[in-house]
Amino acid sequence: MTRVGRCRPDVTRSVSMTTADPVAPVHAYEAPLALWYAGHARDLPWRRPDASPWSILVSEIMLQQTPVSRVLPAHAAWLARWPDPPALAAASPAEAVRQWDRLGYPRRAVRLHASAQLITSRHGGRIPESAGELRALPGVGGYTAAAVASFAFGQRHAVLDTNVRRVLARLVRGDFLPAAAQSAAELRLAESLLPGDGMQAAKWSVGVMELGALVCTAARPRCADCPLAGQCAWLAKGRPAPPQRRPTASYEGSDRQCRGSLLAVLRLASGPVPAQELNAAWHDSGQRDRCLAALIADGLVSRYPNGSVGLPGDCVPD
Ligand code: SF4
Repeated sequence: MTRVGRCRPDVTRSVSMTTADPVAPVHAYEAPLALWYAGHARDLPWRRPDASPWSILVSEIMLQQTPVSRVLPAHAAWLARWPDPPALAAASPAEAVRQWDRLGYPRRAVRLHASAQLITSRHGGRIPESAGELRALPGVGGYTAAAVASFAFGQRHAVLDTNVRRVLARLVRGDFLPAAAQSAAELRLAESLLPGDGMQAAKWSVGVMELGALVCTAARPRCADCPLAGQCAWLAKGRPAPPQRRPTASYEGSDRQCRGSLLAVLRLASGPVPAQELNAAWHDSGQRDRCLAALIADGLVSRYPNGSVGLPGDCVPD
């Protein structure tokens, strides 16, 4: 996580990523976006004034690769079962993986459980406030640390998720999509747009994020409804077409699907099962063995002494 300067930046200066980049007065975006956000933002539980830092951390982990519509019920169930980190820390990793259910990328459940244990043992059960300490938690990268420090504790950090990257690429650079990998220049641009006050910076970040989710969407931005249309570099350039991107690999038959099928068997079981019970879950034995080994290496599955396999921390019957 990169910290930004403590002094309020000169918001009237031009924003530039390279000498060829377009420029725009920073302050011109903030007021219309705040006005639009006040009238259009979704009421999400992790954005409410009474949302706890734990609620915000859990939401950020769940939202990493899962859409809001699927996260909403999962987040509510998770918080109802484990209202704070010590409650989750007292459960087993197996319970966390079962509760994660079909949200996808279940390593997040194991890491969230490990984070809860660390928060409990090292921080007395309270979510740490500094981005550096947050980043030391399992499964918490630069983006998540910045998001929690900003949204839970009102600190001034650039929060660059895919929505924010896309909006800034269009609005400031005039590119339909950002580069595949985030660059240092993008981070500098996002930091230069932050209001000087931490709370204001958090509001700006969540506003850009919401604009990207609701209006400046990936495939078909609704520019007629955008509060920043009058300042948008992509519109000013005449809506240049995006470069062709390679199609993404199919999920059907992938290792990801195979891992999900194996894990589904273990989630539904009440404890470890003989390894042969996984045979019916995936027909290709080579791929099945490879994926099972990967699940074990990732800490999502454990091999038990009697040759059975199960979720980590599952109780082994006598
Ligand atoms: S005008 Fe269109 S492309 Fe530009 S920021 Fe708004 S929605 Fe995105």
